[in-house]
Amino acid sequence: MNIKSSRRKFLEKSLWGAAGISAYSLLSACASFDDYLFDDRAEFGDEVAIIGGGIAGLYMGYKLRESKTGFRLFEGGTAFGGRIKSNNGADYGASLISSSDQRVLRLIKDLGLETKSLNKDYSYLAEGMQSVTDGLVDRIIGLIPYRSLRLRWRLIEIEKVSAGFQLIFEHPTGQKRFVCKRVVLAIPPTQWMGIKGLLKLPEMQWANNWLETLRVENTIKLVLPSQFAASPNKVLQTAKHESVNMRQIIKKTVEGSVAEIDIDYINNSITSIEYIYGVLKRHLQVNYAFERLRSDQMYDWHQAKLIKGSYFRNFLAVPESENPYFQVVGDFTAVKSMYRMQGALESVHVALEELV
Ligand SMILES: Cc1cc2nc3c(=O)[nH]c(=O)nc-3n(C[C@H](O)[C@H](O)[C@H](O)COP(=O)(O)OP(=O)(O)OC[C@H]3O[C@@H](n4cnc5c(N)ncnc54)[C@H](O)[C@@H]3O)c2cc1C
Repeated sequence: MNIKSSRRKFLEKSLWGAAGISAYSLLSACASFDDYLFDDRAEFGDEVAIIGGGIAGLYMGYKLRESKTGFRLFEGGTAFGGRIKSNNGADYGASLISSSDQRVLRLIKDLGLETKSLNKDYSYLAEGMQSVTDGLVDRIIGLIPYRSLRLRWRLIEIEKVSAGFQLIFEHPTGQKRFVCKRVVLAIPPTQWMGIKGLLKLPEMQWANNWLETLRVENTIKLVLPSQFAASPNKVLQTAKHESVNMRQIIKKTVEGSVAEIDIDYINNSITSIEYIYGVLKRHLQVNYAFERLRSDQMYDWHQAKLIKGSYFRNFLAVPESENPYFQVVGDFTAVKSMYRMQGALESVHVALEELV
């Protein structure tokens, strides 16, 4: 048995045989070895290239797999999930599901997860929202993980060629080129300008004006033991000061009770953490000595290298495109439920009508 086929057998066994080992952790561990062991075709044929491994890109892969359409998903960072990120049950990104988020609730059920009620309008996942994106990875990974899902493949250039699109990725082992017929762009608009050729594509002409009116907001998220929260008996509280919006929720996670605090503001309008502490103490009466805050209790979405913000708002709608070869998806493109997971899933359904 040669080294490639024995490796494939090993992966098949691991994925289907070894209960309890998540396909996700296996993928992370194997990805760089696979770069050396598997040959890549330079042309994808009919497979769809999905760029971005947040919930929109992963859900697109999940739906394409359901319809038996081949795809390859390229995530530029070291983890899937994008603006969904959890640790010990606490959420640093998306956290709440509204009772009207029917697509999200259906997906959670399909993945065999259970929601916990916060109040009559909202629910959450005691294991953390990342169990949704981890669950999607586990479902779409297939027999040969590296074929369909890749970490640390950052798209840096795109160009139209006679056979479709040429994609150039930056990867720890060097630059890689592929040609494909169909592309789904599932990355935040703050990243578009960093991809050479993207805004020159005829399919993206609308985006040049659209980006001028883009409003990027940022969120700093704090996770505190719940006894330090303001009014620990109130599960949901909001406050506003000037352009800063605050939200505190109290959740019972698998690791115990925590207070999650979102501090939302327009990018660059806040420069000092002391200002944020002051606002929180005055307006949300949070009773915590912030000097004690550990780095794992705080996440600043502006620092997330391939995202750089938490919400990408625009009063100009993204035009719906009837193009079976190129689609843009993400929470900012949805007509309904924008800027939420539900919007990201809605946008995938709109794109699927053209792609499949
Ligand atoms: C603090 C916070 C709280 C939130 N709270 C809620 C909530 O309670 N409920 C709710 O419904 N929603 C909430 N949201 C919004 C929700 O998280 C988003 O709507 C959703 O996660 C967006 O998913 P996405 O796939 O569209 O984009 P993203 O999650 O941003 O995914 C994009 C992916 O593309 C990758 N990428 C970027 N550039 C490249 C490149 N060049 N090549 C390859 N990959 C690239 C990124 O690394 C990232 O993984 C919250 C968001 C934040 C930040």
